Amino acid sequence: MVKDAEYSFEQLFEDFSKIGLERDGGITRLAYTREEEQAKLLLKKLSEDLGFTARKDNAGNLWIRKEGLDPDLPAVLVGSHLDTVPQGGAYDGAVGVLAGFECMRQLDREGFPNRHSIELVVFAGEESSRFNIATAGSKILVGKLDVEALKAAKDNKGISVYRALKQLGYDPDDLPGFAAEDYKAFLELHVEQNVILEREKLQIGIVERIAAPTRARIELHGVEAHSGACPMGERHDALAAAAEIILAVEKAGYKEKDHHTVATVGRCTVRPGVMNVVPGYTELLVDVRGVEKESILRAYEEIRSSASSIAEKRGIGLIFEHLSSENPVELDPEIINIIESICKEKEVPYKRMNSGAGHDCMNLAPLVPTGLIFVPSKGGISHNKNEFTDFGDIHAGIEVLKEAVKVLSA
Ligand SMILES: [Zn+2]
Repeated sequence: MVKDAEYSFEQLFEDFSKIGLERDGGITRLAYTREEEQAKLLLKKLSEDLGFTARKDNAGNLWIRKEGLDPDLPAVLVGSHLDTVPQGGAYDGAVGVLAGFECMRQLDREGFPNRHSIELVVFAGEESSRFNIATAGSKILVGKLDVEALKAAKDNKGISVYRALKQLGYDPDDLPGFAAEDYKAFLELHVEQNVILEREKLQIGIVERIAAPTRARIELHGVEAHSGACPMGERHDALAAAAEIILAVEKAGYKEKDHHTVATVGRCTVRPGVMNVVPGYTELLVDVRGVEKESILRAYEEIRSSASSIAEKRGIGLIFEHLSSENPVELDPEIINIIESICKEKEVPYKRMNSGAGHDCMNLAPLVPTGLIFVPSKGGISHNKNEFTDFGDIHAGIEVLKEAVKVLSA
């Protein structure tokens, strides 16, 4: 356990890695549980030991503040999350939070005279594993989730986010809001969860855009028939049609490859699903993601038209249902430039890149100038106990984050 202000970042990281640690080495700190609270409480205590102020809001987010010389100026915000998936790793989320804390601790020790206050936010419930809602804490903050939505979203035991918040002592009838004018910038540091940085031997990724999904559900209605008695020419096989459509989805993704768009069929349900019946019904769930809206739409329209011609050719009924579309998020060009000049000056190997996964910062990006910094993930592994990032790379991330905070808060 860390005892005094002399503890190293490694010791700090080690302490948080023990919260929710399971016998097999995985870490389980699910959204809005005692374990997630315990991690926030430890950080709150360590922050108060250093003389920072700490407060929690009713979405379960924790806010830590190092007051600026001019407290009326908008603050520079850093942060990420401390919850995990079941049997997750020690790095996803925690690296960003603890890097933010470490920056504040170092600046405090160095006596850095920040005019703007510096704040660290720990967003609650970032992972969707428990309630099927991703980035809950930051969504509540910016008004994307209201109290009704929190009552409706339930875990597999039937406990809603609303009830979980109450059980932890929060008042979900009095949800917080985000006063954008109180903030100058938001910076999130996160593990990449992909292999690009490792493969290219780079320490920092400066994210330009975060991909967003457009989703559809395809129903195919064929005719169930005896797999022995029904001749090939007489069939309306819903699964064979689905097979062609799945390949068309893949092809649509490949066509937009240069625009970083990807297209996936992640689920296929077949009925009746027995060996001796020609399938009469198939359902496909399609997920198209990218960082360019036009490219996503081109792929999506191509999938829609291919599905309808394949179904028509085979005499199969088709229902193509649009489920959702989200807009890709662009991060702030000025913040990107600041981070890039720091990497150049410090000779930290970096590249500009996109993020396929969503993060809390995408909810704040439309409201406040926002930046996202990646550090490498070994083998791209994440949401897994084998998740790993070298401390050398984390320290490079801390240095870049700290310099960016200095530039922005000076
Ligand atoms: Zn994360």
